[in-house]
Amino acid sequence: MFELMVESSFSAAHRLKTVNKKCERLHGHNWKVQLFLSGSKLKRTGVLLDFKEAKRRLKEVIAPLDHQYLNEIPFFKKISPTSENIAYYLYQKLQVLFAKNKKIKVAKVTVWESEKTAASYFPEK
Ligand SMILES: [Zn+2]
Repeated sequence: MFELMVESSFSAAHRLKTVNKKCERLHGHNWKVQLFLSGSKLKRTGVLLDFKEAKRRLKEVIAPLDHQYLNEIPFFKKISPTSENIAYYLYQKLQVLFAKNKKIKVAKVTVWESEKTAASYFPEK
């Protein structure tokens, strides 16, 4: 199997109700997002997918979150906008974008909330 990774970022605000007192207050993060794509067949050119195209799609799903108050986005009205759920949200959106390409699987989405803390979503095998 081959795996490739592209990275992008966005800035947004959120409030978390159940984690701890500090997170309950409105605050923001510069989230770093990593998209991992996998597949076993390379194109004739020797790549799984052009990095540019992978990056373009990642940016496409991130754009609606950039400079937003995440709690106001419909998906996060019922589900807390934690890094875990942001990873899940982005995974779902990317899954739709890559659905037509049977050779590539969205393997994992990792969302970095700070330099040292990250959460990932990947489907169970
Ligand atoms: Zn936070």
